[in-house]
Amino acid sequence: MGNTYKRVLLKLSGEALMGDLAYGIDPAMVDGIAQEISDVMQQGIEMAIVVGGGNLFRGIRGAAAGMDRATADYIGMLATIMNAMTLQEALERIGVPTRMQTAISMQEIAEPYIRRRAIRHLEKNRVVIFGGGSGNPFFTTDTTAALRAAEINAEVLFKATKVDGVYDSDPVTNPNAKLYRSLTYSHVLAEDLKVMDGTAIALCKDNNIPIMVFNLSVSGNIRRAVMGESIGTIVGE
Ligand code: UDP
Repeated sequence: MGNTYKRVLLKLSGEALMGDLAYGIDPAMVDGIAQEISDVMQQGIEMAIVVGGGNLFRGIRGAAAGMDRATADYIGMLATIMNAMTLQEALERIGVPTRMQTAISMQEIAEPYIRRRAIRHLEKNRVVIFGGGSGNPFFTTDTTAALRAAEINAEVLFKATKVDGVYDSDPVTNPNAKLYRSLTYSHVLAEDLKVMDGTAIALCKDNNIPIMVFNLSVSGNIRRAVMGESIGTIVGE
């Protein structure tokens, strides 16, 4: 059992919002995540969330089908905004104050990304949801999560996934895959372990932001992660 974190950045992939569906958003799944976030917000922690979009659109897949990559990536960024808005709605519905900021301006539905303002919202215990990725094509929401974590001085980046943590091989296809409890950034980069993309890992390494990878489908795990319990895999120096 470790110390409770004060300020965290949670990365939720688009797939996390998809549940068992093949595509899109499962409202029951989003409600479940919102409830867990609501529980940890009672403890007075500051939480920012970066939402992915892979459940709706991935630029790289569009490009593989012949689309211009940058255009496809902008479509992907718009997809993350739909997810972010869905999560915001679910949180507000159960009484959690939130603000959404987007890296692509959409002033009718969200604030633009303004770092100092985001920090102020966190200090007022509002969940800050970052939509639109970094606003740049050729990046990912994992890299956005690392960037925003550095910008808001988050103590830790939580990477919520579908498996228990980082393994030496794919646990879905290899029943003997070994779960790492802790890893160094250098090891992750050298072995190309599937934690987050290399750009995201390098940013966390440069800014000394630990990454905690854990299973989102185990109920209560967001709270355990916030309490500093050693669930999943921790990546650090
Ligand atoms: N994207 C982008 N720039 C960013 C973040 C995201 O171009 O800074 C696009 C990219 O096309 C990506 C899509 O948005 O495929 C969805 O994001 P991502 O794949 O990271 O979502 P996740 O895998 O977390 O669901």
